[in-house]
Amino acid sequence: MTTFGTETINCPCCGESFEIQLLTSTNTFGVRTTDLYVGAGGFQPILIVIACCPTCGYSSEGYTLREADPVEPAIKEKVFAELKPQVADGVPPPAGQWAFAAQIAEWRGEPDMAVADTWLRAAWAAAQSARTPPEQEAAYRRQAITFFQRALQADPPPDNALILTYLVGELYRRVGHTEQAEAWFNEAITMAEHASQPDASQIADLARQQRDAPKETL
Ligand SMILES: [Zn+2]
Repeated sequence: MTTFGTETINCPCCGESFEIQLLTSTNTFGVRTTDLYVGAGGFQPILIVIACCPTCGYSSEGYTLREADPVEPAIKEKVFAELKPQVADGVPPPAGQWAFAAQIAEWRGEPDMAVADTWLRAAWAAAQSARTPPEQEAAYRRQAITFFQRALQADPPPDNALILTYLVGELYRRVGHTEQAEAWFNEAITMAEHASQPDASQIADLARQQRDAPKETL
């Protein structure tokens, strides 16, 4: 089961204190989805590990907030201008906190892969909680698509290009862009034919399944 404790920290952005949750144990016995989310039995860690400062909106994973250096002035300015007004009436649900973290990663100029991964977490969190409306979840998926596509354009391509190509297809499918989804699934199938990694044929099978008779869970 997933268990967690709480700790009070000072926000690295505004300095005010607030409480964060830290995982003390988890498991991977939960659902696995075709957009590569690995769930836990019981509480979902993804809804627990993200934290948002109720004063300024600065958001990150709890364990990184604990040890974070003070936020640089240029980022602090953006957080105060764009996120702080959004927490005036309370912090958003976990998916929205992940979206804040993704926005901050983007402002920081973090690598496309890291930004994409954080938007994907926002989408996963949205899917795991009824508190985030479907259109918001779709918006997070579209952001993840944008940044995964950029990451895939790198030369040389990332090591995990095959599974990411599949994932872009699946994210397109989940936001209702069937043609793009099909194109990306086909690309993954073609890539798999030339890939030497041991799970290449499994990924190709998954891409075929999601193209022809899609499922939500693995
Ligand atoms: Zn703060």
